[in-house]
Amino acid sequence: MESQDNQETKVQRKYPHRIDDNVAIWTEFRELGDRYSCLSLGEGAPGGNPPDFLKDFMIKAIDEGYNQYQRIFGIPEFVNKIADVYGEKLKRQINPMTEIMVTAGANSALNSYIIGLINPREGEEVLVFEPCFPQYQDHIQMAEGVYKAVPLEWKENRWTFDPEVLRKSLNDKTKIFLLNNAHNPTGKLFNREDLQILTDILNEFPHVIVISDDVYEFLTFDDQQSSILFASIGNNFEKTVSIFSGGKLFQATGWKVGWSIAPNEILSKAAIIQCCTTYCINAPAQIAMSRSFDLIETMPYTEGRTFVQNMKKEFQDVRDFFISQFNSISQELPVVPLPSESGYFLMIDITNCKKIIPERYLKSHDFEELKEGQSAVSRNIVYMPDGSVPLDLAFCRWMAVEKGVIMMPASLFYHKESPIRDDKYVRIGICKGLDHSRKAFDRIKGKQKMD
Ligand code: PMP
Ligand code: GLN
Repeated sequence: MESQDNQETKVQRKYPHRIDDNVAIWTEFRELGDRYSCLSLGEGAPGGNPPDFLKDFMIKAIDEGYNQYQRIFGIPEFVNKIADVYGEKLKRQINPMTEIMVTAGANSALNSYIIGLINPREGEEVLVFEPCFPQYQDHIQMAEGVYKAVPLEWKENRWTFDPEVLRKSLNDKTKIFLLNNAHNPTGKLFNREDLQILTDILNEFPHVIVISDDVYEFLTFDDQQSSILFASIGNNFEKTVSIFSGGKLFQATGWKVGWSIAPNEILSKAAIIQCCTTYCINAPAQIAMSRSFDLIETMPYTEGRTFVQNMKKEFQDVRDFFISQFNSISQELPVVPLPSESGYFLMIDITNCKKIIPERYLKSHDFEELKEGQSAVSRNIVYMPDGSVPLDLAFCRWMAVEKGVIMMPASLFYHKESPIRDDKYVRIGICKGLDHSRKAFDRIKGKQKMD
């Protein structure tokens, strides 16, 4: 007679396959980082910490008793603060109780709105600019919507879109236009002219709801003002969800607190989803952020600069460091930096590196020299339409294995079946601090790994 254990192993379960394993984009490079002891310029996790006053307020909030469930859509103290701060930016009065929803980071806001707004399997489309933050694809797939993209292209020294291509991509089936300003991974800041073009086109399709992912809104470079919120233009507020991230603003990405602002008719659809997925959000963190809001923009924090001014300066310094350093070694490593205007990243064009990337990375996904008994890291098995391994993926694997530095291949920021996928750009994190970035660059320019 078979043992009970054996019988159990025979049970056949049918597991759902709700979304593709796009997590692989982060997993491969995390695993490569661990295996080859890399310095990371990959995932957008800042090298620095949140301000001390935020941490102190968090501890105080715990002592004050903010340890139990709270109002689902945000503690009144916090939503009142958000209404004040963003009322000014949006040039209107925001109702803190009906037009704001606090979320478990921007990511969960995106999920709740996209699932809450899409009628599954009815062919409702969500239009994005590609490349884009890869999680967008997952949220849309989970909502059983149809993902559709228009290209952002580097032309005449800036990332641009073709308004006609955008207009032609909108139709009766478009449910959501998902904008990300400032933009990950390109660092593009959609300026007033861009936003007016978008507004005019979208006004021709009044049924379309806009989700404006504004998580990098405050992080602009070269003395530019914070990004202009799409919802602040004309009557856009009526159809727009604006999404923000406390993780980004307070340099506390692990705290996972975000907030969204939208007319109640739209917000209430996402609220139903949030009620069942997360319910209420981290209570002491809400209190800490609420009490820190004014301080990060007004109180001198480092060398007379506020916390936000300082973050902008640090990221910009790292951006400029990489631009000058890559330019200085362009003979040996022929990459072209494409200056970002905002956010956590800088893109480089690696087209001319094809001739120096070792063959093993270009010709297949089996690029590792595995030791006895060692299995390969999780890999993104993706190909370009001509059957080749994406150039940027080969470049980043080469950098990880032989230089000990993690960067992100921008081709993975396109849908895997995207006809407009481009493989000539690599995304570099500028959020890790100057010391870390210098060490990483020493490795990049060295013949082999250092440290
Ligand atoms: N949107 C964009 C464009 C992002 O880059 C990220 C991640 N950094 C998020 C949303 C998610 O933000 P959060 O960590 O607050 O969930
Ligand atoms: N947003 C981060 C990035 O683009 C990653 C964190 C995440 O949400 N996956 O690097």
